[in-house]
Amino acid sequence: MMKQLNKIPALQDGAQVVIIGGGIIGCSTAYHLTKMGWKDVVIVEKGELTSGSTWHAAGLVGQLRSERNITRMLQYSVSLYDQLETETGLATGWKMSGCLHLASTRERMYELKKGATTARSFGLEMQIISPGEAHDLCPIISLDNIIGAAFMPTDGQADPAGITQALAKGARNRGAKIYEHTLVTGFEFDNNRVSAVQTDRGNIKCEILVNCTGIWGYQVGKMLGVNTPVVPFQHQFLVTEAIEGLPPNLPTIRDKDSLLYYKEEVGGLVMGGYERNGIPWGVDGVPDDFTSQLLDADFDHFQQLSEPAMQRTPCLAEAGISRLVNGPEGFTPDGDAIMGPAPELENVFVALGFNAFGIAAGGGAGRMMAEWIIEGEPSLDIWPLDIRRFGPYHRSRAYNVERTREVYGKHYTIHWPHEEHRSARGIRRSPLYFPLKENGAVYGAKYGWERANWFAPQGTAPEDELTFEIPNWFEHVAAEHQNARENVVLIDQSSFCKFEVEGPGALAFLNRLSANQIDRPVGKVTYTQMCNERGTIECDLTVGRLANDRFMLVVGTAFGQRAMWWLNHHLPAHGSVSIREMTSAYAVINVIGPKSRELLQSLTNSDISNAGFPFSTCKNLAVGHAPVMSFRLSYVGELGYELYIPMEFAVYVYESLWAAGQDFGVKNAGYRAIASMHLEKGYADWGSELTPEYTPFDAGLGFCVALDKDDFIGKKALARIKSEGPKWKLCTLTIDAGRPLMLQGSAPVISNAEVLGVTASCGYGHTLKKNICYAYIPTEKDDPAKGFEIESYQEVYPANLEPGRVLYDPERKKILV
Ligand SMILES: Cc1cc2nc3c(=O)[nH]c(=O)nc-3n(C[C@H](O)[C@H](O)[C@H](O)COP(=O)(O)OP(=O)(O)OC[C@H]3O[C@@H](n4cnc5c(N)ncnc54)[C@H](O)[C@@H]3O)c2cc1C
Repeated sequence: MMKQLNKIPALQDGAQVVIIGGGIIGCSTAYHLTKMGWKDVVIVEKGELTSGSTWHAAGLVGQLRSERNITRMLQYSVSLYDQLETETGLATGWKMSGCLHLASTRERMYELKKGATTARSFGLEMQIISPGEAHDLCPIISLDNIIGAAFMPTDGQADPAGITQALAKGARNRGAKIYEHTLVTGFEFDNNRVSAVQTDRGNIKCEILVNCTGIWGYQVGKMLGVNTPVVPFQHQFLVTEAIEGLPPNLPTIRDKDSLLYYKEEVGGLVMGGYERNGIPWGVDGVPDDFTSQLLDADFDHFQQLSEPAMQRTPCLAEAGISRLVNGPEGFTPDGDAIMGPAPELENVFVALGFNAFGIAAGGGAGRMMAEWIIEGEPSLDIWPLDIRRFGPYHRSRAYNVERTREVYGKHYTIHWPHEEHRSARGIRRSPLYFPLKENGAVYGAKYGWERANWFAPQGTAPEDELTFEIPNWFEHVAAEHQNARENVVLIDQSSFCKFEVEGPGALAFLNRLSANQIDRPVGKVTYTQMCNERGTIECDLTVGRLANDRFMLVVGTAFGQRAMWWLNHHLPAHGSVSIREMTSAYAVINVIGPKSRELLQSLTNSDISNAGFPFSTCKNLAVGHAPVMSFRLSYVGELGYELYIPMEFAVYVYESLWAAGQDFGVKNAGYRAIASMHLEKGYADWGSELTPEYTPFDAGLGFCVALDKDDFIGKKALARIKSEGPKWKLCTLTIDAGRPLMLQGSAPVISNAEVLGVTASCGYGHTLKKNICYAYIPTEKDDPAKGFEIESYQEVYPANLEPGRVLYDPERKKILV
C-alpha cells in the first residue's frame, strides 16, 4: 500500500467541480462535464476506479424502462458505448447483442407490447416475436410456458470496468484529474454551500460538489446534511464455466416471469435475478474499507432463482459453476435513481442509487448530470429520478428500508396499472382518514399521504383488483363522478402542499417568479406557472392573496419539495420575505358540485353567492362553529369551494357537511373520480402535462402569462415564443371505441404513419362517455381534419383531434354561477 500511495499525486488545492466516487456514474459525469467544455473537474475516489459496485456488475445494457424519457437516457448510453472504444482506445467489451424478453403470461405480453409501442414513439426498434422465433434467436431456452416474446436488437452487454476506465480516460484527456486512494471524510461549509471537501490527504476547495458514491451515498449524504435515501441490497449472479455449443452471438435474456436475466460471458453464462425477498445490507453505513470486495455467496438464498433457471435453460444443470457473485448495490424506495440538485444545499448535486441499472444508465446519466450542472436543467425531463421527489418522510431510514425491500422484490414482477405498494403505509393521514375509511374509502399512497382513490359501497370489497382490463372500481368511480356533476361531493384534498409567503418583499418576490400577475387585490386567487429562463414550466400553483404582504401558495401533493426548492433558490438575501410550509396546518375538504353552494350556505352566515364570493377569490368563513378559509376554485369543472380548515376542526366540518348534505344527495368522491372529471374539463397537471419541457403557451395556458408586467423569470423567452408562436400544442384526443379502453401511458399519437407525439394523461370521461387523452402535437400538424391514431399495447385506434381542449362546459357556465 505504501508503494501505491507514493505514486499518488499530491491533491490539488481546489477545483471548479469535485466529484466524489470513481464508479461509472462519477466517471461519466466527469466525461460529460469536460466534453461540454468544463476542464477544471476532479474525481476523488477512496479506492481505485470501479472499486465500488461497478467492477462486479453483470454488464447487461438494457434500454427499456417504464418511463419514456429514462428509456431515451439509456438509448443515449448505447450510442455512446458504441463509439467509446474508438474514441479512447480502451477496450469496453461493448457488444450489441440484442435482448430477448420472454413472456409466460398474458399480462407480461401486455407489458412487452407497451414497451414496443413506447419504443416506437422515439424510433427505438423492439419487435414482438413468437416463441419459435425466440428459440431461433436463443436455442438454449426451453419454451415451457412461453406464450410470446420481444426482441430489442440494439440492447447489449459491456465490461463495466472497461466502460468506466474509457470514460475516465476521455475525461482525463480533456483535463479532468482523478485522485484515487483518497477518502472523503467531511466537508467545510460557507452558509448554505460546501466550500471544501476534507479528505484523508488534505482538503480541496470546490465550487460545485457531486455525490456519486453509490452504496455509500447515504452516509456521505449524512455528512453533507443531504437526505439521500439509498439502501444497499445484496444482489447475486452465477457465472458458469464455458458451455459447449453455446452460440457466441447469444442475446442477453430477460425472463421476468421467472425473475431471471442472462448474458453470455467467455463461452459460459451469467445468470442472475431479483428474488421477492431481497436482503438489505449495511443499511446503517457501509464500511469505508469495503473496496473491491464481495459479500459471501449465499447459495441457499439463490436457490429460488437457480431452480427456475435450470428449467428455462436446461444447459445450466450440466454446466460447471465458476462462482456465485454477491455484490451490494444501491436501491431506492421507488426503484429509480437519485439525481439532481440537493435541496438542502446550493452547490451540491447527487447521482446515485441506480437500482442495478447503473451500467445501462451510466452514459446517459453522466450527460444529464453535466447538463444539470452547466445549463441548470437536463435536456430530458427526468422528474422520476429527481432527488426533489422525496419528501420529509424519506428521512426515516426504517421507512426507506421497508419500502425498498418491497420495491426490490417487485423489480421484475408485472407493473400493473394503478398498482399501490403495501409496505410502509399509513404514515401521513388526514384527520378524515378514519371517517372516510368507515365509508368505504380505498386508499392509495402519494408522497406518504393516504388518499382515498375511490369508495367501495356496502357489500363491495374495498380493494383494487389488479388488471390491464376494466377494473372492479370502474363503475363506483363513475357513480362518484356522476354525483359530482349532478349533486355535490366531498373530496379530502388535505395532501395539497401549502406555503405561506409573507413579508414586505413578498409581492415583488412572487411576481418575479410567477408568469401571471400576482399584484391583485387582497382576496384574489391567481392561477400561475413559475417558469425558468427558457420559459418552460418549473411549478404550477394557485396563489391566494390573504393580505397586502401575505400569500397562500397551493401546490400539487407530490411537488412540495420541488416548489420549495424553487422558492428558496430565488429567495432574496435581505430577509424581506419568509416562507413557511403550512401543509400540516390545514386539512382541505373540497365541496364540489352544482348543489355545493346550497349545502355550504346551510352551514355559514357569510354570503357565498356568486356576487358575495366570486370565482377565483378567497374568503374567511365560519362553517358551523369552525373557522375556515375558502378558495373558490374548481378542480373538476363544477361550482365548488375548497375549504382550508385548521387540522383540529376538520372532522367536525366534515361531519357537519355530511349531515347537512343528506338533503342535497352528498356523497364522498376520491382521486380517480377527480382524474376523470379533470380530463373532461381539459385541466393539466404538473408532472404529467406541465413539465420543464413545455412552456405555458405550449400547454394552452397563455392566459396565465402576463407579458405586460415588470420583468419576471422567463419573460424574455416567453415574449419571443409568443411572437414566433409555440412549437407545440397540448391537444385533447378522443377515441370512440364504443367501450372504455384502458390505454397505456405514453402511447404514440400517429398521423399519416408519422409519430407526432405521445399521450400524457389518459382516461375515461364518465359524463361524456369517451376515452380521452392529452398529447403535445407540433403546432403545424394540429389539423383536426387529418386522420389521427393512438397506438396502445400495439393496438391502433382511430382518434379524433378535438378542436378545443375543453370538452365539458367550455364556456364555464357551471363554474361562473
Ligand atoms: C451483482 C450486481 C450485478 C449488476 N449487474 C448490472 C447489470 O447487468 N447492468 C447494469 O446496468 N447494472 C448492474 N448493476 C448495477 C451497477 O453495478 C451499479 O448501478 C453501478 O455500478 C453504480 O455505479 P456508481 O458509480 O453509482 O457506484 P460505485 O461503482 O459503487 O461507485 C461509487 C464509488 O464511490 C467511492 N466512494 C464512496 N465513498 C467515498 C468516500 N467517502 N470518499 C471517496 N470515495 C468514495 C467508492 O469507493 C466507489 O468506487 C449490478 C450490480 C450488482 C451489485
